[in-house]
Amino acid sequence: MAQHSFPELSSGAGRSLLRGVREHLVSDVCAGCRARPGALCDLCSQYLRARVERITVAGVGESAALTVHATAPYDGPVREALVAFKEHGRWSLREPLGVGLARAVADLLTAAADPTRVCLVPAPSTSAARRQRDGDHVRELARVATSTLRRLGVDARVVPAVHSIRRRQDQRGLNRTERLVNMSGSMAARVDVPSLCNTVVVDDILTSGATLAEMLRALSAVGVLPLGACVVAATPDRHGVRAGNR
Ligand SMILES: [Zn+2]
Repeated sequence: MAQHSFPELSSGAGRSLLRGVREHLVSDVCAGCRARPGALCDLCSQYLRARVERITVAGVGESAALTVHATAPYDGPVREALVAFKEHGRWSLREPLGVGLARAVADLLTAAADPTRVCLVPAPSTSAARRQRDGDHVRELARVATSTLRRLGVDARVVPAVHSIRRRQDQRGLNRTERLVNMSGSMAARVDVPSLCNTVVVDDILTSGATLAEMLRALSAVGVLPLGACVVAATPDRHGVRAGNR
């Protein structure tokens, strides 16, 4: 089949149009069960309202173990929704998934000395991933999470303080050790994180913990010690150490 190019669709307005068309084609079927109407139906949304899980991830080198607050297991309707959001352009899922992320952050804030303020630092995407996926998914989730937290009276903001400083291999197919090596030294942080803010690093999915560990390393290198880490979903035990459900 002949390949056509649509240069007018490479603009911001064009991408927005494509997004809208894609969304329209699938928007009447739940991404979780593909049976009921809505972006994520009420039944499938229940999986994002279960008890937040606290998972201990083994440290890297000299660093201490990391506790990650996860809204749901990466399974069933939540997994389907995250795949549809990231890989298939279902941007309407940012709302239920971002609200789910806010639940994990709220759970983490219960341990904060001042739970009324939080700065969410999203895991940085590579420029290739942003182009391929037509946006920055984790930052979008962080935006929805901060809006949700603000409605609950928390002074919440997104601070994209960590960025990639070199290309890294796609993590899929790598084991934990390979992921840690792949991530090591791949990020850097800005020093302008508000000093009084509870800094929380956020990502969509916890797999090996390598991304979050590298974010924490980059932040600590500029003197920022995050309160913790939060994700929408965590894969089954592949993280080194599991604390189990609380
Ligand atoms: Zn459903």
